[in-house]
Amino acid sequence: MNTGRAFKGNKRFLPSKPCAVCGRPMVWRRAWAKNWDEVRYCSDACRRRKNTERDA
Ligand SMILES: [Zn+2]
Repeated sequence: MNTGRAFKGNKRFLPSKPCAVCGRPMVWRRAWAKNWDEVRYCSDACRRRKNTERDA
């Protein structure tokens, strides 16, 4: 059982990209697997904010 390094972080590499509104990094989620390329906002709040910004 002595393998030296324990599993810590870096289990898998998950893609991530910044939210188009708040700039926070969004880490890939299973829920986004189908439309990861279309995901631009980290949350509904950001999506809404983007829409309201346009309305200014
Ligand atoms: Zn955001």
